[in-house]
Amino acid sequence: MTFDTLIHSGTVVDGSGGARYPADVGVSDGRIEAIGKLDAAAAASVVAPGFIDMHSHSDVTLLDDPGGESKAHQGVTTEVTGNCSYSPFPSGAAAPRDLQRVMGSTMASEVEWDWTTMDEWANRVDANGVSINVAAQLGQSALRIAVGANEDRPATRDETRAMKRLAEEAIEQGAFSITTGLTITPSCYADTDEVVELCEAVARYDGAFYATHARGNPGWHVKMIEEAVEVGRRAGIPVQFSHLAITDSRVYGRGPEMISVFERAISAGVDIVFDMYPYTAAGIDLHQVIPVWVREGENEEMMARLADPSIRARARRETAEGADGREAPDWTAVVVSSVQSERNASAVGRSIREVSDDAGEEPAETVLRLIHEERDVVSAVFHNRVESDIRYFLAQPQGMIGSDGNAISPRGRNAGAVPHPRFYGTYPRLLGRYVRERPAVMTLEEAVYKSTGFPARRLGLKDRGLVKEGLAADLVVFDPATVIDRATFEEPHQYPLGIPYVLVAGAPVVWDGRHTGARPGRVLRRGE
Ligand SMILES: [Zn+2]
Repeated sequence: MTFDTLIHSGTVVDGSGGARYPADVGVSDGRIEAIGKLDAAAAASVVAPGFIDMHSHSDVTLLDDPGGESKAHQGVTTEVTGNCSYSPFPSGAAAPRDLQRVMGSTMASEVEWDWTTMDEWANRVDANGVSINVAAQLGQSALRIAVGANEDRPATRDETRAMKRLAEEAIEQGAFSITTGLTITPSCYADTDEVVELCEAVARYDGAFYATHARGNPGWHVKMIEEAVEVGRRAGIPVQFSHLAITDSRVYGRGPEMISVFERAISAGVDIVFDMYPYTAAGIDLHQVIPVWVREGENEEMMARLADPSIRARARRETAEGADGREAPDWTAVVVSSVQSERNASAVGRSIREVSDDAGEEPAETVLRLIHEERDVVSAVFHNRVESDIRYFLAQPQGMIGSDGNAISPRGRNAGAVPHPRFYGTYPRLLGRYVRERPAVMTLEEAVYKSTGFPARRLGLKDRGLVKEGLAADLVVFDPATVIDRATFEEPHQYPLGIPYVLVAGAPVVWDGRHTGARPGRVLRRGE
């Protein structure tokens, strides 16, 4: 038999969680055509399904950087976008630029948003070309903005009806789920009932699910999971709990209380699982450390509040004490990742404490000044977790991997930023630090399952997530003895080691460690 590509004498870790085996894998016409099991001892290189990154925010970065280099080099072949309530569609009755104005600080891009629906956005991504696949979710903040419910109040009956119609349209066009960001404006203005009502509309569609960045308010480390369970139970919808972590030092080590909520829900028949990333720091918009009332409404309203001396003084006081009842931040632990203007470029890569010392101002004032001067386009890394919690959650069977990072190019528009290293290192870090190094948290088979077959199952992808004859040839070849991340908090724009080959639909995207520039990816649709 001849193939377009033959991966010779590999060790197949097939993504199901089952034991590895030695085999040749033949690829033709974009599909895995044949798997020839071998008697020989397993070879050094592992052949696995391409990683499916369950949690990304690459909705528009893939238009700026269609190569998706930071992810492709990790072996990621599908990015799941639209998380935390942020999606670049639908714009509904609002103009696309209104949606971009409100959400563009989080989904920063050179591209002008000129699409209105999921379909139009997908067509734009496909027409532009993209190296890896994209599985899109619908963000509930976008729905609120689309119907003009941008303020801190419940949605009206009419608005709710309009949001349900827009949600149904996006799901019919192939969005995989609806997502919330219940500490993020305007998503957080929805109470549980409002979320349930939207989810009921979505639950009618085969395979559609609910993904939530939960209401992680102080004291809510258990309650935030209970709310997600309640939504799943009442709406009859599967639940994906996003980026599970403990970010409040007062409850470090309390993971077992949280996992027991998952266990009880699952045994009561609620289909709830979670994703997480293997780092002890979060990546945030800097505005997440200031009080939520400062952020209400449109960007101009927020800027007007910051320009008013008495309002600013109150915001500064609350930020310093710990906004919305949170702990007072350790300002050495909050490091600026990116700004948009030249005048604050020197802050990038430095902690709020360092920047404030240099400027001779209080740290909370530095935070507000940066947000004000940058018109809210400031991101940061927040070192707010402990390694023991990360290891505990990684070991749980309900958890899969999602980087929460973007697909970017080190030479693209983010070249001057110092983003969270998860953009470049999540999967090699999992395979090196948590599988190979001792003590290991999980087996290689488990790590691959949490990165492929498990997310494919949640997404209902029938054609991906396994090394199996007939499936799409989205594959990664890596060396389990050397694979490791090299991206650091100081120098994140670094590709990992030990991942020489990545195929998307049979086409090489990474070959001998180099990105080929090929764009065989596309926007996937729910049900395929
Ligand atoms: Zn989130």
